[in-house]
Amino acid sequence: MLIFSKIFFRKLQLKAIEEITFIDGHAVIKETAAEEFFIHFKNIFCNEEEIFLDKALQKASELYRFMGFGRLDLSGLTAEGGTASADSSYYVVSWLAKYGRRATPVCYFTCGFIAGILGAIFEAEPDTYEVEETQCMILHYNHCNFQVSKRIKG
Ligand SMILES: [Zn+2]
Repeated sequence: MLIFSKIFFRKLQLKAIEEITFIDGHAVIKETAAEEFFIHFKNIFCNEEEIFLDKALQKASELYRFMGFGRLDLSGLTAEGGTASADSSYYVVSWLAKYGRRATPVCYFTCGFIAGILGAIFEAEPDTYEVEETQCMILHYNHCNFQVSKRIKG
């Protein structure tokens, strides 16, 4: 029940936050999701002496699917970044059902999820990774694709 409430809230959140023109709403959604899943994923692995990348990415993918957000292939990610893809997306389906097509990607929450879990896996800060959705199914692509890179800090 809590998960469904959160999902419903997030769909409304994107629509509402995009209507506020004086803040970068997409960044807010990404950063919030990154921080949330950074903490959650760190807790999952807190009792393990060593984190194996394949196992951790598989667990993250299963968590994402279990929460009802879709199928996310994270196997192309390393400590330096890489690519991820989704062949189903709650955000695409729900946006289409409620609002129809749009001209920009919609999976900002997923970008934050990926950044958060990578930060947790590689024991980095939650803002270490920059994730951009380069293709989204809402734009008629077959997959949503995400490009991940390390943020240059300084
Ligand atoms: Zn998408």
